[in-house]
Amino acid sequence: MSNQLSDRLNRLAPSATLAMSQKSAELKAQGVDVINMSVGEPDFPTPEHIKQAAKRAIDENWTSYTPVPGYPALRQAIAGKLRRENGLLYDPSQILVSSGAKQSVCNALLALVGKGDEVIIPAPYWVSYPQMVLLADGEPVCVEATLEQDFKLTPEQLEQAITPRTRALIICSPSNPTGSVYTKEELKGLKDVLLRHERVMVIADEIYEHINYTGTHASLAQFPELRERVVLVNGVSKAYAMTGWRIGFIAAPEWVVKACNKLQGQYTSCPSSVSQKAAEEAYNGPQECVEQMRQAFERRKNLIVSLIRETPGLEVNDPQGAFYVFPKCSSFFGKSFEGRTIETSTDLAMYLLEVAHVATVGGDAFGSPQCLRMSYATSDENITEAMRRVREALARLR
Ligand code: PMP
Ligand code: GLU
Repeated sequence: MSNQLSDRLNRLAPSATLAMSQKSAELKAQGVDVINMSVGEPDFPTPEHIKQAAKRAIDENWTSYTPVPGYPALRQAIAGKLRRENGLLYDPSQILVSSGAKQSVCNALLALVGKGDEVIIPAPYWVSYPQMVLLADGEPVCVEATLEQDFKLTPEQLEQAITPRTRALIICSPSNPTGSVYTKEELKGLKDVLLRHERVMVIADEIYEHINYTGTHASLAQFPELRERVVLVNGVSKAYAMTGWRIGFIAAPEWVVKACNKLQGQYTSCPSSVSQKAAEEAYNGPQECVEQMRQAFERRKNLIVSLIRETPGLEVNDPQGAFYVFPKCSSFFGKSFEGRTIETSTDLAMYLLEVAHVATVGGDAFGSPQCLRMSYATSDENITEAMRRVREALARLR
C-alpha cells in the first residue's frame, strides 16, 4: 500500500490544456499532420534583443540563486512598467517575481485561502483556477457568465455569489478562454459591489494585457479605494512570447508579497536567474515587438471569427483580446459519425483531433461544457486549413 496518494493529489485534475497539447504532439511524432490549436502560447520566437540579454547574462555569470522575490533591478523594471503602462505606483517591495504567472496565481491563493474559504470564479474560467483553489483547501464557487452576456460577470451575479465565507474573486481580463475584455465601466460595477464586502480580495489576472483589440486595458487595481485588496498578476509569457522562460509577477499589498515570499522561499527558492535578466530587458527594452505581435493576433482573430461564422452549427462572440475563440458547439451533441456519438465538448474535441487532425480543448475543463476552445496563435495558413477540416468533419455528423 505504499503507492497511495494524498487526498490533495487525488482531488486534483490534470491540466486539460497541457494534456491535449501533449496528445497532439504524440500524434505529430507518429507522422500525423496535426494542426495544434489546443495550448495557448504565442507561436513567435522570443524577440532577438531579449535573447541577447539572456546570452549576456550567462556570460556575465548571472547563474546563482537570486533573492527570493527576484532581482531588485527586475522588480524596479516591473514597477516602471506598471507606472508607465498602467498608471499604477508600486514600490518594488510590493512586487514579487515567480516562475510564471501560474505560480503567481497559485502563490496568492495559497497565501490567502484556507479551509472553508470560498473563491468566486466566473465561468468560463482558465482550467487551473478551481484546481489551485482546491490545492489551497478552499472551495471554488463558479458563476456562469453566458455567451449572451459576452461571458462577463455582472455586478448582480457577483453580489449574489458573495457569502460570509468568500475570500477572493478571480478576474481574468482579457480572458482565457473567451477573449472577453472588461471595460473600465464594467470593472467599476464589480468594484462597487466589492467595496461593500471588505473581506473579499481580488486576484486580477492580466497576463493577456497586451493582446487586446479594444485599445485600452483596464484593471481593478486602478480604483484607489480597492487597491489594497487587489493582487495584480502579470508576466512576460504572452506579451513577449516568453512562455518557456517562466517569469510572472504579482504586484500587491506588502503583507501579501511577504507571505508569498515565505512560501516561494520554501519551495522554489527563486525564479530562474537568466530568465529574470531576459525579463528585465523585455520591460526596459524596445516595445515595438509587442505591438507587432498584437497586430498579427488581431488579424488572425478576424480571420478565424469569420471562418467560424461560416461554419454551420457553431456560434461565436467577437473576442476582444487574448488568442482564443470559444464557440458554442452544443448543436452537435447527440449526433454521430460511423457509430461514434458526440455527447460532450470533450468528445467533440477528441473527434476533431482524430478525424480532422485539429487539436482543440473541450469546454468542460473551462466550466463551459457547451463550448470548445481554439487557440489562434498560429499562422493564417494553419487557421484556414484547420477551419476547412473542422467544417468538413462537423458536416459528417448526423
Ligand atoms: N493565467 C492565464 C489566464 C493563462 O492563460 C496562463 C497561461 N498558461 C497563465 C496565467 C500562466 O502564465 P505563465 O505561462 O506565465 O505561467
Ligand atoms: N495558458 C495556456 C493555456 O491555457 C497554457 C497552458 C496552461 O498553462 O494551462 O492553454
